[in-house]
Amino acid sequence: MTDLYSSPQINAGIYYSLHHRKDVKHEKNRDMNEVAVEDLVWERLALIPDPEIPVVSITELGIVREVRYEGNRLRIVITPTYTGCPAMQLFVAEIRAAMHDMGIDEVAVDTVYSPAWTTDWISPAALERLRQYGIAPPVKPVPGDDPFAEPKVVPCPHCGSEETTLRSQFGATACKALYVCNSCKEPFEYFKHF
Ligand SMILES: [Zn+2]
Repeated sequence: MTDLYSSPQINAGIYYSLHHRKDVKHEKNRDMNEVAVEDLVWERLALIPDPEIPVVSITELGIVREVRYEGNRLRIVITPTYTGCPAMQLFVAEIRAAMHDMGIDEVAVDTVYSPAWTTDWISPAALERLRQYGIAPPVKPVPGDDPFAEPKVVPCPHCGSEETTLRSQFGATACKALYVCNSCKEPFEYFKHF
């Protein structure tokens, strides 16, 4: 666990979470001890990797929407990455185990579906790490394009070439498509924008 804290991945996750926290700290009548517990919870959640993409934490993915600690009760709000995502059961179990490690057993993990999760919530540092891991990060549609069509260009995460070809709409999971690079000939997964 100590090693994880010093990794750039986790630091990025913590930074991202704290950025989200500015508003909470400026709310009126907040008990600062409770706010401090929430910070610790965010830090601990930033150590939980995404089950499918272990280089990215669940806080960097943007699935943790809220952490509220009030009157000895902890509430964590999460938004699934996509409907029926089998990883969600795993997230919840991991979150509960992590909170147990911190000595918190009274935790409500609530799932909120609206607003729906979007790949736009993934932190910029995590997008870069996805690419280094060999997965092409989501390409935002440009205004005027059909938002549901495949992007015109999906750069190869290995060599950066824009000469790539869609091989299959679905990769290992429905949220990824399979591409092959025409330059370096390597196949790769593309994390669809949604
Ligand atoms: Zn390539």
